[in-house]
Amino acid sequence: MTSSYTLAIHGGAGTILKSEMSPEKERAYTAALEEALQVGEAILKAGGAALDAVIAAVSSLEDCPLFNAGRGSVYNAVGGHEMDASIMDGSNRMAGGVAGISGIRNPIRLAREVMDHSGHVLLIGEGAQQYADARGFERMPADYFHDAFRYAQWKEVQGTEAVQLDHTIKDRKFGTVGAVALDVHGHLAAGTSTGGMTNKKFGRVGDSPVIGAGTYAYDRTCAVSCTGSGEFFLRGVVAYDVSCLMEYKGMSLQEACDEVIHRRLTAIDGDGGLIAVDALGNIALPFNTEGMYRASVNAGQEVFVGIYG
Ligand code: ASP
Repeated sequence: MTSSYTLAIHGGAGTILKSEMSPEKERAYTAALEEALQVGEAILKAGGAALDAVIAAVSSLEDCPLFNAGRGSVYNAVGGHEMDASIMDGSNRMAGGVAGISGIRNPIRLAREVMDHSGHVLLIGEGAQQYADARGFERMPADYFHDAFRYAQWKEVQGTEAVQLDHTIKDRKFGTVGAVALDVHGHLAAGTSTGGMTNKKFGRVGDSPVIGAGTYAYDRTCAVSCTGSGEFFLRGVVAYDVSCLMEYKGMSLQEACDEVIHRRLTAIDGDGGLIAVDALGNIALPFNTEGMYRASVNAGQEVFVGIYG
C-alpha cells in the first residue's frame, strides 16, 4: 500500500468554444466537475477501492443534468431515453455493462451489479430492465429525465434522419461522462456512462457500454474512459488499443494515448477524446476536438479542471 492515488473524470468531448460559453455556464460545469472529483477522491484518500471511487464520481455526474448521462440523457427518436454504461476492474479484469436501458437513476451502478452478480458482462434493453428490477433498482419516473433544453434539441431533428452527437448540436450541451482511478493498493478501474446520441433509433448502441471500446482497465497497463463519436471508438477498439500499445509496444501512457487519439482515431475521421491513468499515477487527457470537460487530481496535489483545448 502506498499513499498515492489518482483520479481523472470527463464530462464529454466536442465543439466546446470559449466564445460560446457564458461565465455562469462555465462556473456550473466547473463546479459539477469539482464536486464529482471530490466525491471520488474522498474514497481514494480514505484507502477505498478505485472501483468505488469510479462509481461515486460517475454517479455524481449522472445526477447532474448538465451532462448527457443519467438524469441529463438526450432524447432518442421516439422521445425517450436509452442509456448505456460500463465498468471495469483492473485488478481482475472483471467487467459489467448495460445498454439501451431506461428509468434507472445511475446506470453505472447497474453496470456494477451486472459485473458483481449476473455472471455476464453485458445486458441490454428489456432483459437489463428485468435484471434491474430483480436486483431492486428503483425506476425513476419519466419526468426525472426531462430537460427542456435537451427536449428542444430533439424537437429540432425529430422525424428526420439526423442522429446528433450531443457534442455537435447548436447551443451544445455535452456529454458522456466517465472516470478512471488508481487506488493506494495499486489497483486501477474505469467507468463510462452516456445517454448516447440525440434522435438515435434502431436500438443504436455506442462505445460507452462496450468493454475495450469505451472503457478498459488493467492493473499492468492503464484505465481508460472514452467520449466522442461512438461508432469510431467501436471500430478503433480505442480503450483497449491504448492498453495494448503500452503492453505490447512498451509505450508510455502519453505516447499510447497520442498514438490512438491523434493518429489512429483521427485517421478514420473519428472525433473525441479519452481520460487515462496508468499504474504509476500518470494521467493523460487527450482529445482531437475543440474541448473536453475534464478534471483530475493526484494525492496531495492541486485539482486540475479543464474545458477548452
Ligand atoms: N461515445 C458516446 C456514444 O457514441 C457519445 C459521447 O461520448 O458523448 O454513445
